[in-house]
Amino acid sequence: LESLDVGAIREEFPILQREFDGQQVVYLDNAATTQTPDPVVDAMSDYYREYNANVHRGIHHLSQEASIAYEEAHDHVAEFIGASGGREEVIFTKNTTEAENLVAYSWGLAELGPGDEIVLTEMEHHASLVTWQQIGKRTGADVKYIRVDEDGRLDMDHAREIITDDTAMLSAVHVSNTLGTVNPVSELVDIAHDHDALAFIDGAQAVPNRPVDVEAIDADFYAFSGHKMAGPTGIGVLYGKTHLLEEMQPYLYGGGMIRKVTFEDSTWDELPWKFEPGTPQIAEAVGLAAAIDWLEDIGMERIQAHEEEIARYAYEQLAAEPDVEVYGPEPGPERGGLVGFNLDSVHAHDLASIMNDHAVAIRAGDHCTQPLHDKLGVAASARASFYVYNTKAEVDKLVDAIDDARQLFA
Ligand code: PMP
Repeated sequence: LESLDVGAIREEFPILQREFDGQQVVYLDNAATTQTPDPVVDAMSDYYREYNANVHRGIHHLSQEASIAYEEAHDHVAEFIGASGGREEVIFTKNTTEAENLVAYSWGLAELGPGDEIVLTEMEHHASLVTWQQIGKRTGADVKYIRVDEDGRLDMDHAREIITDDTAMLSAVHVSNTLGTVNPVSELVDIAHDHDALAFIDGAQAVPNRPVDVEAIDADFYAFSGHKMAGPTGIGVLYGKTHLLEEMQPYLYGGGMIRKVTFEDSTWDELPWKFEPGTPQIAEAVGLAAAIDWLEDIGMERIQAHEEEIARYAYEQLAAEPDVEVYGPEPGPERGGLVGFNLDSVHAHDLASIMNDHAVAIRAGDHCTQPLHDKLGVAASARASFYVYNTKAEVDKLVDAIDDARQLFA
């Protein structure tokens, strides 16, 4: 694989030139939100300047242009993730969290009951963990968790033990936002299907960073967010197999999703519009499509290779420090482009604050995986997460800032 021209890529991100107290920002909080390149910002501003209008096929020119752009954004996403059913399998949501809730409310409330089991992993993000936990409480379904072993991997023997004929839904994260673990999702989906359970994969940390083919994984549902893949906030994607989405009832009701309404009853529009009531995220859909173009121009394999190289460099330096604990698997195919860690005797929040004094942006906290942190025996961790525009020199700044923190707190 030809390596990336990171210098040229960085030029498309004016925000990366910002300085704080004379220091150029080092943005290593990409697992939370990535930066947005000029072509994506331009695509959205072109929409507002040139064809802003409500969609749903209004009669006038502007509405028709906006409708086509909005609808075609679905096709573009479908192609990007290998959904051969096209736009009907791609529902635009607000984010991954809403995609998770859509399935939990629409499918879960209708299908789950006492005696059913929902299987999650101990490394689920709250987006899936809290959602299915609460749907479990409402329906009487039990929730079980696949164990995470000491190296931060899923215990697949345990997975085979707890996914049984009682399992109705498996929801698993593709790449952990806390440990960086890349989970064997096709294998998990196969186990679920062997027991006639459905499988929901949370791809929030996968689609932005690696090639993903939802049909190769055979996921029944798959979710991700635009703002973590060089796209805008306010838009996420729920992929679902057509026959499942056909059977499901809408989760939100209103205009734009109906076929026929009387005072007594209503029928639903075709997919995916049935699940997209009200005025949707039109500018954001345009921005997401532009982000996909931008990513595809670089190539997802190259993006993955670049991030893995940066993450390996960071991992090796951090793991070499005797007073730094690094979480998750060693660099390799089982680790994505982020590194979670703690520096002994310095709270992760203090560490992040010292980093900020160096204009190094990392995240500290529980990363929406509180139960996993409980299991790790820490309240919080620090996380550096990388994207296509990061460099090894930026990792060096991270390591320098750690040295500084150590001295301050020694
Ligand atoms: N799942 C994972 C693995 C995540 O990393 C995140 C974002 N931190 C989410 C779900 C939720 O994404 P959003 O906030 O865009 O809904």
